Amino acid sequence: MKLEHIGIAVKDLEKSNRLFAALFNQAPYKTEDVESEGVRTSFFKTGESKIELLEATSPDSAIAKFIEKKGEGIHHLAFEVADIDSEIERLKTEGFELIHQTPKDGADNKRIAFLHPKSTNGVLVELCQEKN
Ligand code: ZN
Repeated sequence: MKLEHIGIAVKDLEKSNRLFAALFNQAPYKTEDVESEGVRTSFFKTGESKIELLEATSPDSAIAKFIEKKGEGIHHLAFEVADIDSEIERLKTEGFELIHQTPKDGADNKRIAFLHPKSTNGVLVELCQEKN
């Protein structure tokens, strides 16, 4: 598994885009709304991996709840897998708890599924596979 991206929860995407653009000396290569998740996202390329910034667009989105509880910061680690369906089955067999039993559409042209952080030492893990 390759570390595909790190997701960072932010309160104000415009403001954070400027901050991370200054940090990385590059503009985000895309901004995308994921309506099903109630988030607006932007992506920066950082070598082999990416940074995804996530801002809540609705008060009941998971990002809004996360920021309310923990404040801004690292939200999840996303690992790229070759076959997300078989990886979900493998991890279930290993005893991991999945938030999504089947993959769903995510940002950046991906099929995604999250593992529950209570089965991964408090780290929210996303599996993702590029859509063809
Ligand atoms: Zn992500």
